Amino acid sequence: MAAKSQPNIPKAKSLDGVTNDRTASQGQWGRACCALTGPVVDIVTGHARLSDIWAKTPPITRKAAQLYTLWVTFQVLLYTSLPDFCHKFLPGYVGGIQEGAVTPAGVVNKYQINGLQAWLLTHLLWFANAHLLSWFSPTIIFDNWIPLLWCANILGYAVSTFAMVKGYFFPTSARDCKFTGNFFYNYMMGIEFNPRIGKWFDFKLFFNGRPGIVAWTLINLSFAAKQRELHGHVTNAMVLVNVLQAIYVIDFFWNETWYLKTIDICHDHFGWYLGWGDCVWLPYLYTLQGLYLVYHPVQLSTPHAVGVLLLGLVGYYIFRVANHQKDLFRRTDGRCLIWGRKPKVIECSYTSADGQRHHSKLLVSGFWGVARHFNYVGDLMGSLAYCLACGGSHLLPYFYIIYMAILLTHRCLRDEHRCASKYGRDWERYTAAVPYRLLPGIF
Ligand code: NDP
Repeated sequence: MAAKSQPNIPKAKSLDGVTNDRTASQGQWGRACCALTGPVVDIVTGHARLSDIWAKTPPITRKAAQLYTLWVTFQVLLYTSLPDFCHKFLPGYVGGIQEGAVTPAGVVNKYQINGLQAWLLTHLLWFANAHLLSWFSPTIIFDNWIPLLWCANILGYAVSTFAMVKGYFFPTSARDCKFTGNFFYNYMMGIEFNPRIGKWFDFKLFFNGRPGIVAWTLINLSFAAKQRELHGHVTNAMVLVNVLQAIYVIDFFWNETWYLKTIDICHDHFGWYLGWGDCVWLPYLYTLQGLYLVYHPVQLSTPHAVGVLLLGLVGYYIFRVANHQKDLFRRTDGRCLIWGRKPKVIECSYTSADGQRHHSKLLVSGFWGVARHFNYVGDLMGSLAYCLACGGSHLLPYFYIIYMAILLTHRCLRDEHRCASKYGRDWERYTAAVPYRLLPGIF
């Protein structure tokens, strides 16, 4: 499974040969960024100070601020001003006005599901620009990467702070607010459950999907364009990362209605964790493989590339089928077939905040009978595939799988704690029937 990294030949030559000064300075910074251990060792051994690294970091620029403002404004317009038309001609796609889950206070929010449309139009424009219009260079995101990071941070902190103030002074649904008494925790984890401006601008749906996930595939495309500009071609590793992550992104928008029933929307409040996470963490950390491959243009051997592709596709299949099984089961109240059979069910009940008793069902068939969160395993396999596409010569691209393993393990424990207190004895019956959380026989 050999991976050939070609860091030296075209890289130094091309980077030095870049005509655009700004691009060249970004290239220098990026190289320093990829040599992760170098600056740390320099600081530890006293050869450099934090201020030296800070001095090399590109500042925010007027161009980046204009670009970012234009980008966010465009996404806001697509979200608020263009009702979904995709559901009118795409068979099987559920878009337009849809209902979310019942909130703890008993509110059912309506959402305008038009993410697929926004993604398609944005990418159509991107390709039209690259092949016809030439309004901007396809490398524009890479070329302004660090200045854009400052802009993303400004938006991330602004929206988290605004959500906090809004939660205290003019919440959308006061009965769904959570005040812990700890100011810092309130800021981090949020007060309001579903903050909105007006009837339709929903913070959770907008920030996760638009500046976060629409940007993901655009950033990868920009990295691929930069790799071609610097090295003369796009490697198979870059193609794999672009394709596998695009499948994940398109899946998200195709199933945006399903997203309304996930933990992010159903249980988490909107604070810094989601606000800053969507604006900064997601676009900057989830795209590390592409960034790495700009500087280290890995060309994989055919068996390695096929292995990565298969791992990514099998992971995606498990992720999608597991999530679909639960969604179908809940939508049909168990009147469906899972793996061709009537599903096994655990009937359960719980009491909501207003003291009302409710009934629900837990699925014990399909992937939900294999382990209690096998959907996370599929996600982790896909994440590992992105990292393995980058070969084995640097730890940086593996940050993603390490992060996802921590995120999803923590999420699994957090969710199970919540389910145990929600369903009590019924949850114990489920854990007895399906004893493992992620991997049968291991965890
Ligand atoms: P889940 O889709 O696993 O939802 C958990 C909830 O489902 C529980 O709280 C419970 O809710 C219900 N549930 C649990 N077990 C059963 C069962 N056996 N039968 C029926 N319902 C059950 O979690 P997430 O929302 O976290 O994840 C959704 C997907 O998104 C996952 O595939 C995950 O990998 C992915 N994800 C990706 C992230 C990324 O950054 N790439 C981040 C987070 C998630 P209830 O109270 O309704 O019973």
